[in-house]
Amino acid sequence: TQLNGSQCYMRALFDYNPAEDSLLPCKEIGLAFNHGDILQVVNQKDPNWWQAKKVGSNGPAGLIPSQELEERRKAFVKPEADYVHKIGICGTRISKKKKKTMYQSKSNSEFDKAELLLYEEVTRMPPFKRRTLALIGSQGVGRRTLKNRLINSDPDKFGGVVPYTSRTPRVLEEDGRGYWFIDRETMEEDIRQHNFLEYGEHNGNLYGTKLDSIRDVIRQGKMCVLDCSPAALKILHNSSEFMPYVIFIAAPGMEQLKHLYGIGRSIGSSNRNLTFDRASSIRYSSRRARTLESLASLYEEEDLRQTLEESSCLQRTYEKYIDLVVVNEDFDVTFRKVVEALEALSTEHQWVPVNWVY
Ligand code: 5GP
Repeated sequence: TQLNGSQCYMRALFDYNPAEDSLLPCKEIGLAFNHGDILQVVNQKDPNWWQAKKVGSNGPAGLIPSQELEERRKAFVKPEADYVHKIGICGTRISKKKKKTMYQSKSNSEFDKAELLLYEEVTRMPPFKRRTLALIGSQGVGRRTLKNRLINSDPDKFGGVVPYTSRTPRVLEEDGRGYWFIDRETMEEDIRQHNFLEYGEHNGNLYGTKLDSIRDVIRQGKMCVLDCSPAALKILHNSSEFMPYVIFIAAPGMEQLKHLYGIGRSIGSSNRNLTFDRASSIRYSSRRARTLESLASLYEEEDLRQTLEESSCLQRTYEKYIDLVVVNEDFDVTFRKVVEALEALSTEHQWVPVNWVY
């Protein structure tokens, strides 16, 4: 984006502290900002340093690194991508005991390109409703339950999609209820034609969500609620068609989990025989305790550690797409926060990517 005399607005997708910038000739003229801040860029003539003000603060304009300068700088820093691929993010985690659903993760090169998005041009919009709600997070943090609860709470306002699968229907399974059942060749062809938002393979069968299913829900005037893979965010975010509101459902911290997990049993081989100290559980609201308890009992210690690691890694990797982070400690609280955030969209102005509007 090149500025031609006028000004533009950018959402910062990284933190910047001029006091720590060795390239900046004079620290005082730098403008500090954090990830998510909206910057009004008033001058882009210099290829290395842009002049900008922070929206919502009365401070003076200052210098910020240009996209080009920051790209060059970041090219020298070992990207986190190595780590991301080591643990196999985007749902491709495979533990020794359980093979999780394999989402198709983006290739390295695509991942790297996404990493280089440092500023995103945005525009201020009056209150409006987003078309999709993407609930993102590691597996087992309660996204599906949250999705179903939202849809059941107001079926006129929220809608879900029925995924497609190449698996044969089980007894009593009806087409269009849990899944649309199609043959593998048709599904593979649809995937080649980019008709799927995301897809994955599980036990030799394909599963996936079709873009047309989302379009159908939007056409009915509903917000389409998706508990999709984060790899889908790029597709959702990059066009005005889906205008997603993205909520990251984070796993509660290890400390909180350990607190419950470690009480009333010895950490070791007998992980399955969890017994929770009832007295300590009472210190939590009973719902919260149940959420943590069920989460903890779902996993053995290694899985638990992986879930938490995956959760924070996912959050960092997809930060640029995330509108809101909710730590799921208590299901009722999480549900309320999500509903409140969605209601706020109808009353507050929003900064959205320019390509949603123009
Ligand atoms: P089942 O065949 O037992 O109904 O489901 C098997 C697995 O397929 C589940 O673990 C579920 O997570 C996964 N699955 C269901 N729907 C989808 C989908 O739309 N996309 C992907 N990637 N996986 C799905």
